[in-house]
Amino acid sequence: MLDFDFLEPASVGEASRMLADLGDECRVIAGGTALMLGMRQRMLTPSHLVSLGRLGTLRGMALDERGGLRIGALTLHAEVAASPVVRERWPMLASMASRVANPQVRNQGTVGGNLCYADPSTDPPGCLMALNAQVVLASQRGERILSMADFLVDYYTTALEPDELLSEIRVPAMPADACGQYARFLRTAAEHRPLVSVAFVARRQGAVCTEARIAVGASTPIPLRLSRAEAYLAGKTVTTDVAAEAAAIVASDIEPVSDARGDADFRRDMVRVVARRNIAGLFGLPQA
Ligand SMILES: Cc1cc2nc3c(=O)[nH]c(=O)nc-3n(C[C@H](O)[C@H](O)[C@H](O)COP(=O)(O)OP(=O)(O)OC[C@H]3O[C@@H](n4cnc5c(N)ncnc54)[C@H](O)[C@@H]3O)c2cc1C
Repeated sequence: MLDFDFLEPASVGEASRMLADLGDECRVIAGGTALMLGMRQRMLTPSHLVSLGRLGTLRGMALDERGGLRIGALTLHAEVAASPVVRERWPMLASMASRVANPQVRNQGTVGGNLCYADPSTDPPGCLMALNAQVVLASQRGERILSMADFLVDYYTTALEPDELLSEIRVPAMPADACGQYARFLRTAAEHRPLVSVAFVARRQGAVCTEARIAVGASTPIPLRLSRAEAYLAGKTVTTDVAAEAAAIVASDIEPVSDARGDADFRRDMVRVVARRNIAGLFGLPQA
């Protein structure tokens, strides 16, 4: 293992000052599930680790005054999955969190760490994007709030400034007529990470979709909202044909990556299948 100094700031301001002073030589550590792998593989060689372990204000979840959800950056995936409030009001978020990785990672890895690592093969970013979530970035200079689309810049790249921490994720309340579903495809049952994912949120009156939000994740460098498919669905009675057409639009509007886990054509096909099943499933239609 590499030699490094382990720093334990007691406030966000102190952590931010450490990050500003130490620059590229240091990394933030939360649960360590991603960071320690990178260090063991010598992809990351920080001389200092700034632990968030003492920052109690970054832990836990709470409802805000508008009924939205505030998720502290240090909240574990397992805590999101098990929360009665999340399960009742944002069931797609709880369901997504319950499928991240495996029990060990869900009980050690944080939601904030997941977003800040910006690994494309992950679940929360796409799901949170479809839920219109925002992130709060904090530093000694103050706070700023970004949409998921503005926060996730590229492969393993976020909009975090060197002295900033992700402190909180904010998920707006779901309107009474809205529902959502998160779907992912794994190449093999033994694999933990999704090859593709599709998060779908719809406002509906009976079989009519009055508004749609669709985010594709895992198959592109960063998750994407699919505005053409969303516009196509808005105002339509959702039938199996409509779901299939919307899914075809989704698949044609993405530029999937090719890598050892799957080439772009395979990913595009799987996005189309997963999107069709997800849209049809949310409207109670057969998903074959
Ligand atoms: C075997 C395995 C399987 C996995 N499978 C999945 C999967 O199926 N789906 C999925 O979504 N994910 C999966 N993951 C990824 C997992 O979700 C992340 O590793 C985890 O959430 C990272 O959180 P952490 O607290 O451990 O982050 P850390 O490892 O501590 O940090 C990760 C990165 O984020 C930075 N960081 C952490 N917190 C903050 C913060 N608050 N502010 C600023 N920077 C910060 C760190 O500096 C580091 O660069 C898997 C990981 C493993 C090891």
